Amino acid sequence: RFLGKGERRLKKAQRRLSKRVKGSENRKKARVILGKRHLKISRQRKDFAVKLARCVIQSNDCVVYEDLRIKNMVKNHCLAKSINDASWYMFRVWMEYFGKVFGRITIAVPAHGTSQECSSCGTIVKKSLSTRTHTCRCGCVLDRDHNAAKVILSRGLSTAGHVGTWILDPNACGELTATDVEVILHRQVDSANQESPRL
Ligand SMILES: [Zn+2]
Repeated sequence: RFLGKGERRLKKAQRRLSKRVKGSENRKKARVILGKRHLKISRQRKDFAVKLARCVIQSNDCVVYEDLRIKNMVKNHCLAKSINDASWYMFRVWMEYFGKVFGRITIAVPAHGTSQECSSCGTIVKKSLSTRTHTCRCGCVLDRDHNAAKVILSRGLSTAGHVGTWILDPNACGELTATDVEVILHRQVDSANQESPRL
């Protein structure tokens, strides 16, 4: 998340826009400034995703992750949430791209129940989001995310056919390309810039 200075400036620009008289030149100017603030944050987000993806790929021979699809994610109407999901997807797309460039294996595995399954014995240990520790009868006690990561890794290593390796023509399989993800992010930024009738 890009908070701090960027978010403060964004909020200020948003406030300024809402105070300007509708249809005025000053309102147009305020809208342009708000758009620039949004654009800067989305660029920072992209830079971060690219750098992190390159780092993760270069320091590992094989990367396994949950196969979360953006199609299911953008149904969520909460803007911050869907931008985060789009950022995550963008990160994944770049990871798969660098995987191809640097010759590393990337595997997307089914995300179903990764936090509920025991990484040691495979038993389903039901837990709510607030339960941060995985405690199984088999004696396996791990941090919730650590356990899920181990489940994801073992699912990846047992996958015969990869589903997440970079596809040469992503559109052929209905997958999104990095540019598509950028378009989605920009579209979200645009819709955030559109004036709400309440203003
Ligand atoms: Zn267990």
